[in-house]
Amino acid sequence: MKMEKHHKFSIWYVLIAIWVVLIVHDVMVNMFSIEHIPYSDFIKALEQGKVLEVAITADRIQGKLKTTQDGKEVEKMFTTVRVDQNLSQLLEKYNVTFKGIMEDNFLKNLASWIIPIFIFVGIWYFMMRRLTTQQGSFLSLGKKAKVYMEDEVKVTFNDVAGVDEAKEELAEVIEFLKFPGKFTKLGGKLPKGVLLVGPPGSGKTLLARAVAGESKVPFFSMSGSEFVELFVGMGAARVRDLFSQAKTKAPCIIFIDELDALGKARGLGFTGGHDEREQTLNQLLVEMDGFDPTVGVILMAATNRPEILDPALLRAGRFDRHILVDRPDKKGREDILTVHLRNITVDFDVDIASIAAMTPGFVGADLANLINEAALLAVRHNKEKVGMIEFQEAVERIMAGLEKKNRLINPKEREIVAYHEIGHALVALSLPETDPVKKISIVPRGVAALGYTLQVPTEDRFLMTKTELLNKVAVLLGGRAAEEIHFEDISTGAHNDLAKATDIARSMVKEYGMSNELGQIYFEREHQPKYLDAGLPTGKDYSEQTAKTIDEEVKKIIDAQFYVAKDILTKHKKIMEQGATLLLKEENIEGTRLKEMLLADQK
Ligand code: ADP
Ligand code: MG
Ligand code: ZN
Repeated sequence: MKMEKHHKFSIWYVLIAIWVVLIVHDVMVNMFSIEHIPYSDFIKALEQGKVLEVAITADRIQGKLKTTQDGKEVEKMFTTVRVDQNLSQLLEKYNVTFKGIMEDNFLKNLASWIIPIFIFVGIWYFMMRRLTTQQGSFLSLGKKAKVYMEDEVKVTFNDVAGVDEAKEELAEVIEFLKFPGKFTKLGGKLPKGVLLVGPPGSGKTLLARAVAGESKVPFFSMSGSEFVELFVGMGAARVRDLFSQAKTKAPCIIFIDELDALGKARGLGFTGGHDEREQTLNQLLVEMDGFDPTVGVILMAATNRPEILDPALLRAGRFDRHILVDRPDKKGREDILTVHLRNITVDFDVDIASIAAMTPGFVGADLANLINEAALLAVRHNKEKVGMIEFQEAVERIMAGLEKKNRLINPKEREIVAYHEIGHALVALSLPETDPVKKISIVPRGVAALGYTLQVPTEDRFLMTKTELLNKVAVLLGGRAAEEIHFEDISTGAHNDLAKATDIARSMVKEYGMSNELGQIYFEREHQPKYLDAGLPTGKDYSEQTAKTIDEEVKKIIDAQFYVAKDILTKHKKIMEQGATLLLKEENIEGTRLKEMLLADQK
């Protein structure tokens, strides 16, 4: 609306400008009252001695001549177009009136004014349109940020499924937004910034809106990228405006989607053209530090790339509360499918659990898409209800798309990952003095990890015994051992485990004096470089012979522990198979469950 109005105004200004120009032109002509006379009149005046002075150009003569007006003799400016001298004599002889034509007539004059003006207006109009579509209004200069405020968000936690842990963590935020007084009375400290972290489509935006819906507070949202594609200074002004608008509506939520677009670490750009983003980010940091959470404004943000965020954003008092919104496991996918199937008429043969089983690696958005696709297929098949066939076809279609984007791991890889993780877990459960296994998962996390075995220490530890260290190495090698036993082949998936195991073994030999061969000697060089020394560090403090022994001792530890791991897994091969099968089916299993299976086997 605003844009329209503004644009009409500008056209009016232009029209007025043209009119003024025309008036001025007219006045000028009148003021000097230059009369255009026929050449023959000029010749006549010349012969009568009335011409006072002339200025001659190639085709024109200007000057003053005397003439009688109302009986008085006056001087008059004139202009005339030259006509060929011989011709004029001839014409005179036969008494023909002749004159030259002034080529620059008024119309032509006008055209030479108007055409450029129209071109200018055209360019201006074009630019205005571009600017206005980008940022609402050109002249508002960031005073009114394009903030999306929803007074009443209809989304609730019932619409978000499969992310129960994240929901639990957000419950406190909701409680605070509902009863801000209750918290502040106790002097409790509230989170200022909550950062939702997770892969694209896992429901971060949905979850943030659900928090607003649950607590029934206004929801201000803006996407990080919207702050950036503006003129210099606009982004910062918007941030300022966003916060000041939000404060008047407290309690409320400010949500910045795709924070990474705005909050990339500063000083990384080599083009130097990121000043604008940097300014905006700085303004955001200033606003975050400046606002008092007790007024009831909660700042939320979402990102799928937390690793590239500016560390300043993650500092205490800013986005210091991180909530993981992970890919759903099979149970989670079932719940999400149930939510999205609420408004779909499905046939009796549709089995949600088996659809969930077919879709490992799918996120919420993929599942929503899947249901939509299945419904469209049913329409195409002229069916009243969506049947299992449609779902199967839809799964295949979406799967193909995701595979292209490399977002899914193939079934063979999943199997390897499952055995690998069960290997870690079984070794950990079998050896004494290891941290309890909490969870085993083959739901991919982040970029690198295809699966993980979560071991949680029961207490803080400052010292570790040799046995504990050796067991740790065995657990790390358990993944590869399992692959070797089951597949009689090994994969690259263990390289991180190997690096960690080797590090531990090397430290045992060189730093902790835990090798029988070498005894209680510390071999690691001090790491601080000695600046006063003239030369460069000379390398090792020990002989080549010792270096060789160290390497041998490290290898011995690794080999021995690999044997330990393999021994355990061979002994419990049946449990390994069962565990891996269960893991492939459910994607997440509790450590206690595997432990029960193991205990039952040992009896
Ligand atoms: P993100 O912000 O993490 O990229 P969105 O919140 O935009 O993902 O999710 C896109 C859509 O996918 C949602 O609107 C919703 O329909 C669906 N969706 C995603 N995650 C879930 C979930 N956990 N439960 C239900 N629906 C979901
Ligand atoms: Mg989003
Ligand atoms: Zn591993």
